[in-house]
Amino acid sequence: MTSSLVAVMGRGVVGDEPVITPDDLGFSRGDGCFDSARVLTDEQGARVVNLDEHLDRLASSAAALDIDIPARERWVELVDQALSAWSTPGEAVMKFVLTRGREWEPQAGPLALLTLREKPVLTPRPTPAGQVPRALHAVTLTTGHPSDAFRDAPWLLGGVKTLSYVTNVAAAREAKRRGADDAIMVTTDGYALEGPTSGLVVVSDGVMRTAPTGDTGILASVTVDEVMRGAAADGMETRVELVPVADLFTADGVFLVSSGRGPCPIVELDGRPLPVDAELAARVARAAGF
Ligand code: PLP
Repeated sequence: MTSSLVAVMGRGVVGDEPVITPDDLGFSRGDGCFDSARVLTDEQGARVVNLDEHLDRLASSAAALDIDIPARERWVELVDQALSAWSTPGEAVMKFVLTRGREWEPQAGPLALLTLREKPVLTPRPTPAGQVPRALHAVTLTTGHPSDAFRDAPWLLGGVKTLSYVTNVAAAREAKRRGADDAIMVTTDGYALEGPTSGLVVVSDGVMRTAPTGDTGILASVTVDEVMRGAAADGMETRVELVPVADLFTADGVFLVSSGRGPCPIVELDGRPLPVDAELAARVARAAGF
């Protein structure tokens, strides 16, 4: 059974052959975009969860970068090729990558590929409410900018899932250095936005909130949408508005959510315990299909 696989547009599933050239602008400049989706494999086979939403977001990212993305049918064909070569049961992550292509041979056009990788199992954190799936400790880290930093500045590529994710990765590394599992990014004017690789939802007094995309530069999260829709269908009030950092410490539930990892309840923030509502965590997880 394979634990990883690569498929390249126009070539299909490749083995160990080279895929990236040294002059690829995605490699040398981070000039490209990507997206990540959850893959589930059972007796019925392997499937990508919310494939349309992830391909839509990849297309939006490509449009923001002015990269000519291959047609949707070609991505779907590549996905089918990868899934039919995949039999590892359980959870995996499919990553779609699109780069501007070769600097020295621009006529070759963009490079489009996908990778499929088995998902590592998280070690659960013990909590006062017992074993709560995917519970995490987090720290707040500054974005270094105010909550409207991306207004009227499309070249800053706020909300675009570019390949230049190095600051997101550095934030996650800093969180680990501080003894936590992940970070919540906060603005210089005091609002909580999202995680380095996750959306953020906050539940207080029966209201679920998430911060708006747009001026904030937040990525439109497929999982946040699912969780907010599920909460609304359950009769909970939902609001898209800026959430003050102070509210995280008084909330009934704070969740970092993503397609790959699912909704993760934050049970400790900046060294302070947060309340753990196992029933709320289970509802949020169900809404996201976890
Ligand atoms: N925000 C950022 C910055 C991300 O990198 C991700 C994950 O890809 C998310 C949010 C969550 O997005 P999704 O729920 O679509 O996986």
